[in-house]
Amino acid sequence: MSEILYMSNLYAPTLKEDPADAEIASHKLLMRAGMIRKVASGIYAFLPLGMRVLSKVEAIVREEMNATGAQEILMPALQPAELWLESGRWDDYGPELMRMNDRHDHGFCLGPTHEELITALVRNELRSYRQLPCTLYQIQTKYRDEIRPRFGLLRSREFIMKDAYSFHADAESLQETYDQMSEAYGIICERCGLDYRPVEADSGQIGGKVTTEFMALADAGEAELVYCPNCDYAANTEVAECITRPIEYDATTMEKISTPGVTTIAALAEFLGIDEAATVKALVGKDAKGQVIALFIPGDHELNELKVSRVFEGFELLTDEELEATGLPKGSIGPVGLPEGIMVAADRNLEDVKRWVVGANEAGFHYVGAAQDEDFKVDLFADFSTAKPGDICPNCGSKLDGARGIEVSQVFQLGDKYSKALGAVFSAEDGTDQPFLMGCYGVGVTRTLAAVVEQHNDEHGIIWPPSVAPAHVCIIPLTVGDDEVYPTAQRLAQTLRDNFPHLEIVIDDRDERPGVKFADADLIGWPTQIVVGKRGLKNNSVEVKRRATGEKFDVSLDSLKDGLNFLNRYKQVRSVRGPVVS
Ligand code: ATP
Ligand code: MG
Repeated sequence: MSEILYMSNLYAPTLKEDPADAEIASHKLLMRAGMIRKVASGIYAFLPLGMRVLSKVEAIVREEMNATGAQEILMPALQPAELWLESGRWDDYGPELMRMNDRHDHGFCLGPTHEELITALVRNELRSYRQLPCTLYQIQTKYRDEIRPRFGLLRSREFIMKDAYSFHADAESLQETYDQMSEAYGIICERCGLDYRPVEADSGQIGGKVTTEFMALADAGEAELVYCPNCDYAANTEVAECITRPIEYDATTMEKISTPGVTTIAALAEFLGIDEAATVKALVGKDAKGQVIALFIPGDHELNELKVSRVFEGFELLTDEELEATGLPKGSIGPVGLPEGIMVAADRNLEDVKRWVVGANEAGFHYVGAAQDEDFKVDLFADFSTAKPGDICPNCGSKLDGARGIEVSQVFQLGDKYSKALGAVFSAEDGTDQPFLMGCYGVGVTRTLAAVVEQHNDEHGIIWPPSVAPAHVCIIPLTVGDDEVYPTAQRLAQTLRDNFPHLEIVIDDRDERPGVKFADADLIGWPTQIVVGKRGLKNNSVEVKRRATGEKFDVSLDSLKDGLNFLNRYKQVRSVRGPVVS
């Protein structure tokens, strides 16, 4: 049973105003509710109430990890450069890696992730197939020198991550653990009260091909998702396959049209009185070898540079100066009559569209009805466009919907990328030495906390789901000086503890006006408030307010157990895999 908390002792400096640099609800409210404080850009301290929430999120993550059979360890944040040189990421990771030298001039970094360290840790001691599979995890501080730290805990430079790493003898075993971890990640989101979706994703810096991101749906999220309302397809638009239906221009011959001042797709569509989907957008870039490539995509879509760079290594769009040097007129570029040596590539949605509306490679002119294979030729078709709502589900053909999301966690099948690079092998059943197959699994613990606030708030403050609330019930005596109200509040706290031993209870014993106490209680977001006042006590009752619904009702002090039986639901929901010691 936890101690009763007294507001007069709590270090919870609440703020009336939003901090000037806070743009989104979670950042504003965690600051205003006195839960976190900024130390430097992207670096935050947790105050007591924030710390209570953080411990609860961590406890949920820990329980669910333990339930999968993963074992907790703790690795150092400070990592020797040698390991990163061995994996090749010392050079690949770029300026996000916080690097430093010790007094002997040895290179170190503050870990943004721990694949290198864990692989080196087990490489000489996890030796036999009989010891596999083995999954180790930690809850630990990570460092990434983000180019744009912002949104408080959502994108910070120092943050807490739960990272797990699994080691396997074969692909089936890796798949099994990957599935188990994915299930656990869903349960973690649910227990934290998050509305979430697992989505197809890019593996980025970490590597590997099989990966899933868990997205908390929120407008403040930096990720764009498409999902199918009729099947379980969902993907980050970074990787979502784009299937769309461009509109064919109705003509029998190509015609050159004067389009003075028309340099954007929107202006072109309006000028011609056609849909943007009937136009073709041109973008010009070059690959690592300097080959210039003119890319064409449906006019109503955006280029997906990640997809392009998978086809053309090192692809970058030309700068305005570089484009000028090619002689191509920005805003009027097309595939007809391009200068020699420029490669023509197009989005594969355009493959079956014969007649296009395109720039004429002459400022102020466009072609309508330019015909593939007659007026121009495309050298290569591939998936180059960013999928968007309204496109077609690659799974079932329905129309996709869109949403924004906060990536709270991600699971990866790494294969043997790190075990090979760092020489981590085990002796297999046939006696040969083989590199481990590995998986890695990360939950952004502090980001999850912020995502919860992003989804659970209103104009008055935070609305904590009971599972992660800093405490469950705040008892608010309207006065503290008299000999009736405050003693009743204290007796009430005792009775609640006797009847609902799982509850964490706060008494707002501050000598403040009721308005101040109510405002703070709403801002901090205790799930239930119980107001003790002289008027109610005349009827031997207190007023209960449920923060999530705003619902208010009186409960008699004689029937607290019945009147407050909803508080039984504030018990921790255990893992579906069975009871876990808490
Ligand atoms: P992002 O794409 O948002 O930069 P990431 O894909 O690089 O994140 P991972 O390497 O997958 O991140 O790390 C695992 C988890 O750590 C992420 O799902 C996220 O919840 C959390 N995380 C990553 N970067 C940050 C950050 N700068 N601040 C807070 N949490 C972060
Ligand atoms: Mg990620």
